[in-house]
Amino acid sequence: MTDRILARAADGGRITPEEAILLYETAPLDELGAAADEVVRRRFGDEITYNVNAHLNPTNICVVGCGFCAFAVWTEKDERAYAYSVDQLVERAGQLVSHGITELHIVGGMTKEYDLPYYEELFSELKSAYPHVALTALTAVEIDFISRISKVSHREALERTRAAGHDTMPGGGAEVFSSRVREIIADRKVPAETWLEVHREAHGQGMRTNATLLFGHFETPAEQVDHMNRLRELQDETGGFQAFIPLPFLPGNTDFAYLPGPNREEKLRTIATARLFLDNFAHIKGHWVMLGEQITSDALRFGLDDLSGTLIEERIAHATTVETPLGLSQDRMADLIRSGGKVPAQRDTLYNEISAAV
Ligand code: SF4
Repeated sequence: MTDRILARAADGGRITPEEAILLYETAPLDELGAAADEVVRRRFGDEITYNVNAHLNPTNICVVGCGFCAFAVWTEKDERAYAYSVDQLVERAGQLVSHGITELHIVGGMTKEYDLPYYEELFSELKSAYPHVALTALTAVEIDFISRISKVSHREALERTRAAGHDTMPGGGAEVFSSRVREIIADRKVPAETWLEVHREAHGQGMRTNATLLFGHFETPAEQVDHMNRLRELQDETGGFQAFIPLPFLPGNTDFAYLPGPNREEKLRTIATARLFLDNFAHIKGHWVMLGEQITSDALRFGLDDLSGTLIEERIAHATTVETPLGLSQDRMADLIRSGGKVPAQRDTLYNEISAAV
């Protein structure tokens, strides 16, 4: 039964949500991976891209309080709280730029001091100091938050951040669109409809964005596929997504530390099913820090075609108990890609190739 569906998907044909659930639940793992790898090979050959980036997280104080988040604290009174000024972040960016980054990934907690004027100032200072560095910043949840506290529409917030130098949006905050699961893991976070509406607006303004799925906690395979289906429908409408990024849940230091987190097979099944189902997404990106280096290497034959950057600085995943190092050198990133039998190539934020690694 799954043979015919896999053959059609591997050939670039569209599969239904019901077929995707069936593949996730019953297809032999090696056959699922081979079909996903076939899609990648037809599009990109053996090449796996990566970019050289660093994360800036302006503050970890956040009023949303998601149960799955190990990064944020409720209040500045918490001894782990920090809050950087624009000047401090521009100075830190200068140190990161000296490592050759082409992108700054800027996301953080939500608190009223970090409003629209703050981000306009931050982006314009960063762009004026480092015009060659792309700013991938502010999840849809953050755009919604700064719109509300600054009393402007999503449209105006995005127009103003873009005028200040905001280039692309990351895909965070999507978690799982299911309202049942959101109620458990992120009951104060805006609903799926708001997340999708902000991305629709960004795409309408000509901005490229990414989309994530946080998997391996309370969601069912059907809820994973429903999440992907809502993304596929928006992509049919706008074409504005660049990459889908499946993020495995990391239980350490969260309210759900008693959960095991997804195992190897569950990670590979989610990645491969995404590659087969999201026929209108160019890229399936692996966040190597969260997947771990061994599974990332394996997943390069299960549908990944792109890796999140060398991540010279990263706080969010490292607030859990991940064992991955804080940064990968370009040489080590290239070795990781080769260990999966693929060929590394550096790209910029908009997927223009910078160099093929040798
Ligand atoms: S996941 Fe984001 S919104 Fe939720 S608590 Fe953490 S920083 Fe805040």
